[in-house]
Amino acid sequence: MPPVRTRIAPSPTGDPHLGTAYIALFNRCFARRHGGSFVLRIEDTDRERSSRQSEDKILQALRWLGLDWDEGPGRDGGKGPYRQSERSAIYSDHIRILLEKSLAFPCFCDEKRLADLRREQIRLKQQPGYDGHCLGLSADETARRIENGERHVIRLRVPREGECVFQDLLRGEIRIQWSQVDMPVLIKSDGLPTYHFANVVDDRLMEISHVIRGEEWISSVPKHVLLYDSFGWNRPVFCHMPLLRNPDKSKLSKRKNPTSIGYYQAMGYLPQALRNYLGTMGWSMPDGEEKFSLAEMEARFDLKRVSLGGPIFDREKLDWLNGRYLREDLDDAEFVKHFAEWAFQPGLIEQITPLVRQRVSRFSDVTGLAGHFLQGELALTAEDFTHKHLDQDACRRILLFSLWSLEALPDWNRDAIEAGFQQLAENMEFKIRDFLFPLFVAVSGKPVSLSVFDSIAVLGLDLTRARLRAAIEALGGISGKQQKKLEKEFQSESP
Ligand code: GLU
Repeated sequence: MPPVRTRIAPSPTGDPHLGTAYIALFNRCFARRHGGSFVLRIEDTDRERSSRQSEDKILQALRWLGLDWDEGPGRDGGKGPYRQSERSAIYSDHIRILLEKSLAFPCFCDEKRLADLRREQIRLKQQPGYDGHCLGLSADETARRIENGERHVIRLRVPREGECVFQDLLRGEIRIQWSQVDMPVLIKSDGLPTYHFANVVDDRLMEISHVIRGEEWISSVPKHVLLYDSFGWNRPVFCHMPLLRNPDKSKLSKRKNPTSIGYYQAMGYLPQALRNYLGTMGWSMPDGEEKFSLAEMEARFDLKRVSLGGPIFDREKLDWLNGRYLREDLDDAEFVKHFAEWAFQPGLIEQITPLVRQRVSRFSDVTGLAGHFLQGELALTAEDFTHKHLDQDACRRILLFSLWSLEALPDWNRDAIEAGFQQLAENMEFKIRDFLFPLFVAVSGKPVSLSVFDSIAVLGLDLTRARLRAAIEALGGISGKQQKKLEKEFQSESP
């Protein structure tokens, strides 16, 4: 048996997600259990959406959870670089092999043709997808058009008949008709690879033996196995983990549950408790014990014990487990140490100080002004939102629209937050003073406090989102139907 090598391959396009930590944990445990290596690879082929800032946050979050990697950025194992943006030459060499064997082909179809094709396929109730148009071009014509510098992509030639058969470690044999599989783009018109191509080439070159990832990737496997087969490479073992779910069984989403690891860090959870809780997602210790360390999980890990029923990420259960860690694992001195590390986390006090310094006469005034930075969710009721010009419905709309406008902000800073709110208040036809009232209450717990823009800038999107959502709930919540209606209204009112 070749050595076990697993990997986590996040795309740095947003905040570090609980799902990434969950998959990283299982990959790491599997590798450790079998004396293998756990690799971290950054899949940053989408240049527009990827950022170094997001990558740094993901690495920091994995380290915080104690899920560091054996190989990856900063830990060379001889199979790097571990960032796809630094591996372009490798993809160019590999696409040439497929082009020479005509297993991939240049496609010149422009966006308009593809959009028209799609529309027509939908009208005819056919499966939308590429129709193989450029496969019909002669070699001469293709060469001439490339020579002329015509924009094109490279696609994978996918059979139109028969079925793709592959094995999943947890599900056994899976069969998917080739006619259901679109001919994917492997190289984009800018010369950069897509996820499918870079992912397979890198898994191969990094000698990944087991591809353990979320079940949302099952539908991509036919494209991947076709690539392995086209290159004449052995396929790795595929294992698709069940997706994390909200308590109502829907897919874990930030609308219903905070999904960013930063949120759990900011709320003062212990990393070992969060990691332990993620270890209970679809998996259990053979003895049924719910509290276990990473070393214990690694020592007893068995992928075959993963159950496919969607694991529920339940905050109350996490709170219970975290509480056990605080009570059972920390003595007073350790509690003080961990608490101080959390409360005085680098940067927080430095950010708060200029906001409060001019407004206090004694240190004891600070907590009254800035206490909300160290609180989790605030206990608010509908009465807290009583206002002479705004009814509850107006407060709810302001809170929800503000949240959406924050989520759309390209830069997270005080001035951008202020400008966004000014614009939104104007569009919604509220005086800015009135508009800011429910935000003050939701964010700081009081109608008058430090500037709400500063507070939000310091709290960050994760905690702010949780507070705005909690405030909306305190005001009676919003049904799915109302939310849809409001989304339309928001779109027409946002600049
Ligand atoms: N870059 C993909 C992601 O963001 C990796 C998927 C995979 O593991 O193949 O999740």
